[in-house]
Amino acid sequence: TRTYVVTGSASGIGATTAQLLRDRGERVIGIDLNNADVEADLSAPEGRTAAAAKAIEIADGIIDGVIACAGISAPIPKTISVNYFGVTELLEQLRPALAKSEAPRAAVVSSMASLQRHSAEMVDAALDGDEAKALEIGAELSAQGPQVGYLVYPSSKRALSRWVRRQSISPEWAGNGIPLNAVAPGTVLTPMTQKLLETEESRAMVDANVPMPLNYHQPPESIANLLIWLTSVENTHMAGQVIYDDGGAEVSLRGDDV
Ligand code: NAD
Repeated sequence: TRTYVVTGSASGIGATTAQLLRDRGERVIGIDLNNADVEADLSAPEGRTAAAAKAIEIADGIIDGVIACAGISAPIPKTISVNYFGVTELLEQLRPALAKSEAPRAAVVSSMASLQRHSAEMVDAALDGDEAKALEIGAELSAQGPQVGYLVYPSSKRALSRWVRRQSISPEWAGNGIPLNAVAPGTVLTPMTQKLLETEESRAMVDANVPMPLNYHQPPESIANLLIWLTSVENTHMAGQVIYDDGGAEVSLRGDDV
């Protein structure tokens, strides 16, 4: 039995991932705002520290896999805190417990949205570890209304994907034998997208942003199964990859250059 920490375990992709792992007989420690083994707010530094400490305690000090799904898509500054700092700081704090495993693995959920228009300034602030500055930029963006405020979301995911690529080959991650990767979904049918897909008009808008030639909107299982493979014993050499599991949306946007 492997011990996994899954964030965002109360809903959508995280809930599906936690359930599929439990079905396989693995041990899952869920982290979420509510309805989780560890209830914590990952938007704040204290919440991250408390969540990491509690998860490590429940795991008796050794964690085999971390799967970070918790995230929000609201056009507000907090989105950078949850989606970037809530993932990277938590992962850093769980890393010592991962390093004690015989086959440690970590995977995060980025997004196809990381390829959309974003704030390069916010991405840089995040990668610099400057949460206060990132929040300041977020406040400036969201003050200009929801359309500009939305830029916080693609910025948070772009920063997260880049963090994964940088860290994956570092002494801390590769040096400790921990494969670190990201999955970038297209449009997944979860509570996050439910409202957006309700009316024909807003659905058309989402579909224009995320062209999916293959099989249209995806079930959470499509992402959960990939996260599970990435964090399984079988993944011995994949590192730093942002895997677009998105119905071909990324190919549609970026073309055939490899
Ligand atoms: P969801 O809303 O169903 O689940 C997200 C979970 O994260 C919720 O349970 C929520 O409570 C938790 N969460 C939010 N803020 C938190 C906080 N401050 N502290 C702790 N937990 C918090 O959404 P989902 O669709 O399952 O999304 C999971 C991940 O996938 C997110 O990172 C999202 O950005 C990403 N994603 C989703 C889609 C999509 O189309 N649904 C597409 C691309 C990427």
